[in-house]
Amino acid sequence: IQSKNIRNFSIIAHIDHGKSTLADRIIEKTLTVSKRDMKEQLLDSMDVEREHGITVKSRTVRTFYEAKNGHKYQYNLIDTPGHVDFSYEVSKSLAACEGVLLIVDATQGVQAQTIANYNIAMENELVIIPVVNKIDSFNANIEQTCQQLIDVMQFNEEDILYISAKTGQGVDKVLERIHSVIPAPTGTADSPLKALVFDLQYDPFRGVIAYLRLFEGTLSKDKTLRFMVTQAEFNATELGVFLPHMQPTDVLRAGEVGYVVTGLKEVQKVKIGDTLTTTTDPSQQPLPGYKESKSMVYAGLFPSDDNDKDFQNAIHRLALNDSSFCYEEERSEVLGKGFRCGFLGMLHLQIIRERLEKEYGLTVLITAPNVTYQVLTKDGQELRINNPVYYPTFDKIKTVKEPYGVVTITLPEEHVGDIMKLATSRKGIFIDLNYQVNQTILHYEIPTSEIAYHFFNQLKSLSHGYATMDVQFMDYREADLVKMDILVNYVKIDALAFILHREDAYRVAADLVMKLKHTIPRKLYPMPVQVVVEGIVIAREDVPPLRKNAAVSGDKKSISKKQALLHRQNINKRNMEHMNIQLPQEVFNSILDIN
Ligand code: GDP
Ligand code: MG
Repeated sequence: IQSKNIRNFSIIAHIDHGKSTLADRIIEKTLTVSKRDMKEQLLDSMDVEREHGITVKSRTVRTFYEAKNGHKYQYNLIDTPGHVDFSYEVSKSLAACEGVLLIVDATQGVQAQTIANYNIAMENELVIIPVVNKIDSFNANIEQTCQQLIDVMQFNEEDILYISAKTGQGVDKVLERIHSVIPAPTGTADSPLKALVFDLQYDPFRGVIAYLRLFEGTLSKDKTLRFMVTQAEFNATELGVFLPHMQPTDVLRAGEVGYVVTGLKEVQKVKIGDTLTTTTDPSQQPLPGYKESKSMVYAGLFPSDDNDKDFQNAIHRLALNDSSFCYEEERSEVLGKGFRCGFLGMLHLQIIRERLEKEYGLTVLITAPNVTYQVLTKDGQELRINNPVYYPTFDKIKTVKEPYGVVTITLPEEHVGDIMKLATSRKGIFIDLNYQVNQTILHYEIPTSEIAYHFFNQLKSLSHGYATMDVQFMDYREADLVKMDILVNYVKIDALAFILHREDAYRVAADLVMKLKHTIPRKLYPMPVQVVVEGIVIAREDVPPLRKNAAVSGDKKSISKKQALLHRQNINKRNMEHMNIQLPQEVFNSILDIN
């Protein structure tokens, strides 16, 4: 097929607005997959996604469409992830497209990620087809949704399409619109190869499989290939297209979308956003796609049992499969060897944890998450701290800066008061408020650490589920922060340390010691739990001993036993260095639970 008849596009939408359902309809109508073979929600294949209703990884499908004008078009559909935490990944897959379908659920209207996705599409200079979905629904408010698209995003009324992805109504119009407004890819098959890596997969037998969008040149198996950023070279063992299963082909040409099996087993040699070229006739410039993703939240991940090797492998694989998850090795005195991992947000963290449990059968301990801090020390060093363990002592610090984000919140007018109160209580700085048709759009600047924890849940509960949000990193600002050290039985537990605003320290410390008192496993002797800030104990509670149980049976023999035991306990008490304290996940959760 000629490249003028190729269309590369994605579907973008706020979560649950019908992206996957529409993808199913498009595949069904273009008959790539016969109806009989079609599993429901074919594009969402991972368990975790099903449960969260989120498409975490993009999947690509090549379909063919016989248009009304008599031409046959190749449609490459790229499914993007769709949640507040994943706009970075959305951005990567959109770089592989010329256009997008922007879906808005007519029962919900324009939501925070509708706006965020719209902005990403605009930044990528893509053609945007506005589509109002769920018009079959009893609750659909079609006119209002249409008006929001016009008012908030300046679409023309006549360009808006109306569909039911569920029944298929209107989907034919979408298929027609795609080839008539989305441009064909430019680029020529005889220039040097330039292909964007927009996704990755790992196969234990075949190594890294890269998902490619060819911008220039031709890819065939006979040439040695090179990734321009990592400089890794290889000979393809297979290349092909997605139907949506992987179908080997002999060549891929400029404008097309497909995959290459690299055979590379070292996952760090292949990165999303890198450019693939040939060694014999290399491209001069890589595509602008490559940039390291910005982690918003960091936490320590530790294996909860001894399967160290499995744990390491799983972490490597996950990072490959998810370009916005990063990690480095970490050692904790209490928890042993693990990884310091970076996430796009709390939901991302939760998804990684579930994938470790479900896909790899591993249970992990996760320490309290934190953001990155910029510390300037008195002797002029500039440090980036993403692990409280490395936070300098207070007497060495000159200034500390913490990250801020711009939060976009959409919500119905009646909840505005509550949500503004919430944002203010989270140290939010009000920017503006816009009333749209039956929808309010609020902007705040908020310290990222304040959003990282419970902000999302509180937003949802205060607005009865109607508010939505999106966060964009903004800048670093000076803040009055302190490190909290937690001592159990006079021993500092490195994995429990965390950083917070000074004004919150007393309140949080009091709350925390109460929670730890009930979650730290008891020993035969009482154990004080102390919170220390800048060398001063600001809160203390004692974990009660198991002593009662030890002395249950009361005959003479056991009295002397009991005395012996109590004696041993006293020795233990003094023998702090050898304390073997087990920290279950609940202990870390008690830090998470504090507001
Ligand atoms: P995604 O999160 O954007 O991928 O959304 P899904 O495609 O998973 O759809 C979310 C929910 O909306 C599912 O329960 C779908 O069955 C439902 N849904 C999707 N499209 C329609 C539609 O056109 N009409 C109705 N009534 N429901 C729909
Ligand atoms: Mg989906």
